[in-house]
Amino acid sequence: MGQRVSVAARRSLHAFVDWLTPPKCLLCRKDVQGDASLCLSCWQGLHFIDEPVCDALGTPFAYDEGEGALSPAAIAEPPPWNKARGAVAFDHTSRQIVHLFKYRDTQEAGLAMARMMAGAGRRLLADCDLIVPVPLYRFRLWRRRFNQAALLAQHLSRHAAKPYAHDVLERRQATRSQVGLSADERQKNVRSAFAVRPEMRPRIEGKSLLLVDDVRTTGATLSACASTLKAAGAARVDVLSFALVLEPARLHIDL
Ligand SMILES: [Zn+2]
Repeated sequence: MGQRVSVAARRSLHAFVDWLTPPKCLLCRKDVQGDASLCLSCWQGLHFIDEPVCDALGTPFAYDEGEGALSPAAIAEPPPWNKARGAVAFDHTSRQIVHLFKYRDTQEAGLAMARMMAGAGRRLLADCDLIVPVPLYRFRLWRRRFNQAALLAQHLSRHAAKPYAHDVLERRQATRSQVGLSADERQKNVRSAFAVRPEMRPRIEGKSLLLVDDVRTTGATLSACASTLKAAGAARVDVLSFALVLEPARLHIDL
């Protein structure tokens, strides 16, 4: 009885504290309405990537080129995955959200990111059999305390009622941090850095997988993961990221 009272008391205390501290914008901490994670002006600072997009790269088209249309970049250099989508362009505002999530463990940021990804990737989510996050090397996992891609995959799994497995892929060696590397160096850095755990092979053979990451820059990491999954028997691999770097060559990227 005493315990029940204290649970009830704690609940009403929580409700009271919620009432005292209305929800705040993730980025600027201004009050927001309802369960919105961003205020209107921060929301408007995001550049959402809407259809029509290149089916293979998820990059925006100026005009609707029809279902499944590919950009010149995707035709010139087809990626090892099938389809890709991203929710927003990687810019000042989306970078702040990623940083909150990645380096300050703000779970609210992860939820907001996953919600936007579920919108941009709804068809990919509907078509997949299993959601697979890009893995972190163990040391980095420990240092940052969690794998942000795995958390995004978990949120997406709940949202779309699709299974996810966080341990399909593993990193074979400590890859150097990608910060400050050229596209070529990034490619070398991640090549053959991934492997499918032998016990997970039966779960991916002949299956449609959705590979999840927070930011797609050059796509070197996702390429390496997608090739590894296909080599291990996956029938198809689609890619869903929160943010896309649309012009890698022209941006100074500090992940
Ligand atoms: Zn705001």
